[in-house]
Order: sequence, then C-alpha cells, then structure tokens
Amino acid sequence: MATTLMRNTAPREHPGRYYGYMSAVAVLAIAVAGFTAVRSGAFDGGLFSVPFAFWLTAGLALVAEFRPNRWGGLWMSPIASIYLVYALATMITWGFLPALVVQSAAVTLLCVQIRASAWRTIFNVSQQGLALCVAWYVWDALSGSPTWGGTPLQILAIFAAGTAWPLVSSALVAYRQSLRTGERFLYLTWQWLKSEWALRATQIAIAPILATAAMSSWWLVAASAIPIFSVYRILQTAADREREADHDPLTGLLNRKGFQEVVDGKLADAAETKTAVALLILDLDRFADVNSALGHEVGDQLLVELAKRFTTDIPLGKKIAHLGGDEFAFVWSELDGMTDPMECAREIRARLDAPIVLGDVSLEVDGSVGIAVFPDDGPDFQTLFRHADIAMYESKQRAGTYTRYGAEFDHHSPERLHLLGDLRRALDHPDAPGVNLFYQPQVRLVDGEVIGAEALLRYSHPERGVVNPAEIIETAEHSSVMRMLTERVVDIALRQLRTWREAGYDLRMAVNVSVRDLQSPEFTDFLTERIDAYGVNAKRLQLEITESALMADPRRVLQNVQRLSDLGVGISLDDFGTGFSSMQHLRRLPVTEIKIDKSFVTTLCDDPDNAAIVSTTIDLGRALDVEVVAEGVEDEKVRRQLESWGCHAGQGWHFAKPMSADAFERWMAEQRKED
Ligand code: C2E
Ligand code: MG
Ligand code: MG
Repeated sequence: MATTLMRNTAPREHPGRYYGYMSAVAVLAIAVAGFTAVRSGAFDGGLFSVPFAFWLTAGLALVAEFRPNRWGGLWMSPIASIYLVYALATMITWGFLPALVVQSAAVTLLCVQIRASAWRTIFNVSQQGLALCVAWYVWDALSGSPTWGGTPLQILAIFAAGTAWPLVSSALVAYRQSLRTGERFLYLTWQWLKSEWALRATQIAIAPILATAAMSSWWLVAASAIPIFSVYRILQTAADREREADHDPLTGLLNRKGFQEVVDGKLADAAETKTAVALLILDLDRFADVNSALGHEVGDQLLVELAKRFTTDIPLGKKIAHLGGDEFAFVWSELDGMTDPMECAREIRARLDAPIVLGDVSLEVDGSVGIAVFPDDGPDFQTLFRHADIAMYESKQRAGTYTRYGAEFDHHSPERLHLLGDLRRALDHPDAPGVNLFYQPQVRLVDGEVIGAEALLRYSHPERGVVNPAEIIETAEHSSVMRMLTERVVDIALRQLRTWREAGYDLRMAVNVSVRDLQSPEFTDFLTERIDAYGVNAKRLQLEITESALMADPRRVLQNVQRLSDLGVGISLDDFGTGFSSMQHLRRLPVTEIKIDKSFVTTLCDDPDNAAIVSTTIDLGRALDVEVVAEGVEDEKVRRQLESWGCHAGQGWHFAKPMSADAFERWMAEQRKED
C-alpha cells in the first residue's frame, strides 16, 4: 500500500534529525521500561507464574492483530488497533511486564503484516512501550492497591492511565510525522487524537471489565472476546467512513474536499507571509481508452500505481489528491520549499516517463498539467482550481505537457458567459433569428469557375450586433453549446446546398467543424442522418478541420475523421501551415484538400518567405494528390501567382467577401451573365 511504503521512507531533508529522534525514543523506552519493570516488582514472583487466563488474554491480543491491511489511511495510524484493551487489562491484572510483553508482541506482529521497515517496527514498539510505562505510573499512583479489585477508585485510575497512553503515543508519533512532513506538531497530534478517540475510549472502558473477567475465570475472558471484537468492528467501520469523507478510497490520497482543506490552510499561511502557492492539476490522456480496452479493474490499478509514484520521495509539505477519474491535483507552497511552479510541473511529468507495468501489460501514460499560482492567478481555492483546470485544458489543446494559467485562456469571463447563454437561447428554437451563415465563394483558378462556397457562421447578438465568429467558437467550444451550434450550421448549410442544386448550381459546400465535434462519434451519425434527410450527395460536402483540433486528442479525432471520410465527405485541412505537425497529419489522415492559411497568401507577393511556403505547399499537394485551396486572395497579382504555381482554387476578397444566401445567389447570377 502506497501510504505504508511512504511511511517507511525517511524525509529527504534532515534525515539525521529524523533517525536521531527515533533512536532517542528507542533508547529511552528501553531504559524507562527496564526501570519500570524492576519498580513494578515484575521479577519478584517470576514472570511465568501467571495463570492460564493470562495466556488466553495474550493469545487473543495477538489474534486481534492477525488481520492485515485494516487501515489504509494516512491519518489513521495502522497501529490503531485492538490490543490496547488486552494490554491495559493485563497491566492491572498481572502487572507491568506481562502487559509490555503482550503489547510488544502484538505491535511487532502488526508491523510485520503492514510491511513496516525494521526501524519503524522498533520505533512503534518503543513509543508504545513508553506510553505503557506512563500509563503504569498513573495507575500505580492512583489505584491505591496494585491488585485489581474493581473499586471505584481503581476504575477511575484505569481510565486516567488509559487516557495517558494515547496522549503519549500520539504525541511521539506526531512529532516523528512533523519531522517527516514539516507540518505542525500540535496540529498533527490533534488530528491523531481526533481520528482515534472513539476507538481508544471504548478500549479503555472495556479494559476493567476484561480484567474482572480474567480474575474470575478464563471462560469469561474467552466469552468477552466476542463483544470486544464486535464493538471494535463497528468503530472501525465508523472511522473508515469518516476518513472516506476527505480521502479517496481507491488511492488513499486526499479527495477534493480534503484537498480544499489543505489548500485553504496553505493559502492562509501564504497570505500572512506574502509567499506563493502552486496548485497543479494533472489530467491523463486517453485514460478512457485504458478502461474500455482493458477493463475498469486495470484502470483502477493504473491509478493506484500512479498514486504510488507520486507519493514516493515526496518533498516536505507537498500534498496530492485524486480528484476522481483520471485527474490528480497537487499543491506545494513556497513555505514548503517550492521555488519554481514550472519545475513542479516538470517533476510530475517526469514521473509519467516510464511505462506502468501491470502484470504482463505495460502501459504508456501521458497527461497534461495546468498550473495556477497564488496570489497572481487567483486569491482563493475556487479561483485557483478553476484556473488550473483551464490551463490544463489549454495544455491539452496545444498537445503541450504543462501550461501556466493566462487570462487569455479563460473562456468564462462574465461577458462570455452571457454570450454563451444568449447563444444557447438562440439555438434552442429552430426558428429563432440570430444564428445564420454567410457564404464565401471558392473559385477554380484556371478558368474562374465557382466550384463551391465556404459556410461561415454569423451570429447577430440582440445587443452587441454581429459577433466575431472566432470569439463565438472559442466561447462555445468548451460547452455543450458547440454541438448545438455545429448541428445548426450543418443543417443550414445542407439545406442551402439542396436549394442551390434545385436552382441548377452544382456547388460544393465547405463547413468548419470544431475540436469538440470531432471528439464525439455522434457527430458522424448526425451528419449521415442529415445528408440523407436533405438528399444531398455526401461528396458535395467538405469538412474543414484545423490542426489544433487534431492535436487535442489525436487518436479519437482520427477515428472520427476516418468515419466521416468513409461516408464520402471531403476532408480539408484548414489554416494549413499554422499548426505544428502538418506533415504528420497529412500522412495519417484521409485528407482530400489542403487550405493554405491566409496569413501566407495575402502577402505572398511582398514576402519571399511566404511565397516559398505557399509554392512548396502547392507542390506538396500535387505530390500527395490532394487539392490545394488558397484562402485570403485579396488581389489579382496574388491570384495570378497562385495560378502560375498550379494552385487549384482560391477564396478571398478578390473574388467576393462572405455574403448572405440571397446576396450569394445574386452574385452567382451576375457571374453567369458575365460568362
Ligand atoms: P476560416 O475557416 O479560416 O475562415 C476563413 C476566414 O477568413 C473567414 O473569417 C473569412 O471571412 C476570412 N477571409 C476570407 N477571405 C479573406 C481575405 O481575402 N482576406 C482576409 N483577411 N480574410 C479573409 P471569419 O468568417 O471571420 O471566420 C473566422 C474563423 O471562424 C474561420 O476561419 C473558422 O475557423 C471559424 N468559423 C467560422 N464559421 C464557423 C462555423 O460555422 N463553425 C466553426 N466550427 N468554425 C467557424
Ligand atoms: Mg475554414
Ligand atoms: Mg482558414
């Protein structure tokens, strides 16, 4: 278990102090326990003169610990177990030394089962030994008579001794933990006591009953085991449930709620000291594929393995959460030693480098990290979290590995949220005005024949007027509105295509599709259905996809593009040359056309670099047998140059600006007249 292994490691900083402390506890325990054993008169009557009831009690204490992996937690000490009842009962019935032997045997057994390292086992035996010594002194001082008689005073004494035990033990463990993680000692002690008090109180309350049973007959000791074990079971379930509230049961890491508490604490400290806190979100790529191809069990194992990787050798104060699904979150503050948030992201990514081996499967994992830093990127948990999420999404879009939040990525400013709401309202009703298409002709360069048109979105907002389509796409792309929008655009475009055919124009229609459309297979189904409904030829439809769309999730997008191509729909690589790996996409995709981006075309006569890019792209298209369309043709000089290079078609203001359907028809009619 990750947390168990983690506890076995020493902190990277000040390991000497850490081991020194543990050695001191061990030495002190030996000295104090030896002294106490002599003082308690343990050797006076001989250790083994105890009755059978003692052996039964000791046996039950060991049996009680003979269940591995009972606590999987960070907070809940795995040593928080049942033997305290038997140790206390033994102490008041048969004296200090038999109790120490029972307790030490039980702790050792437990440590073996949870795979604790040797020094950790020694520390646990020692710290609980010290706790028992203190408990014995309290008992000895208050009980009046060392022989258990069940008097009210003795009951009070055992309650006091029993209370001292967890106080000492928690403090010793919390101090070790504070050396490990850098967290405050008092805070840790409090956490420990808070998580264990119910269990401890019950054990302390049962101890005198067990002692009384042991004094009268060993049968009663045996019989008392049943209620002891059941009470314990109930408490354990309750404690587990409490723990689950802020931990993720699968990985043992914090969940979102627990994470928020930790981050809030760190932000408060950072605000006081004017220091920075980095919040990072990691989202794995293609995790859904692992689940669907290999099953959810393998997916879960993968997450557990990753949690292990992230928690090994973790720096002081850095906290990790599993937010569910394939998302992890990290927080690290300057006070904990964080110097560069980007370095923190690189470190997370480095831990994904090696493949994860599960049985005989070896899985490559990859993921995108988003970073938000307090105070620059947000004042509170909610804002930082949202911004880290936005940065993570941005990083995915760019197929980058990590990105720090920038206001320009935020598609959710209040203004944009309004726009989104208005757009949704306009799309909700099929006949509501506002969403429309403009058409811009595409012209064959050799003979000037109009071969088709690109459909371009025009949304006229009731107050803002016509909104820039790029802004609309950016806003809608991150929401379900995008799907509604594309469906509306496809619907209008196909209807227009049919109208043109009926009017005797044999044109093709180019429609832009967004990242989101290509990620869902439903889009293909929708398109097939609409093509059928309007009775248009699929070959007359051209889908323009941009490279950034392809980068978002290449495999899933590729699958959907292939399905669309199988339908007969043409695939056009829009804005060619502006992306990063155009060549790769050309090779892998069923592309039928390249659209050279207008940024190269418009200035090609004045800029030799752009001229070289455009002419090379045209050659490339010829070599790969795909058509090349140049967008942004603004004058005759450019048109002529493109024609001389053998470019297939052009689109741009030189021919016509985008226009409404009516204007387009008038324009077409004029073109015919001219011919
Ligand atoms: P795009 O697909 O590259 O569309 C070409 C853009 O270039 C259009 O801008 C068009 O008006 C503009 N343009 C055409 N000729 C010229 C020219 O000669 N010079 C210059 N400087 N510009 C020219 P628009 O209509 O503003 O569209 C911008 C972008 O918005 C489009 O770029 C496309 O990516 C996106 N878009 C437009 N409509 C839709 C749609 O229905 N769905 C999706 N997903 N995206 C769309
Ligand atoms: Mg386009
Ligand atoms: Mg374009």
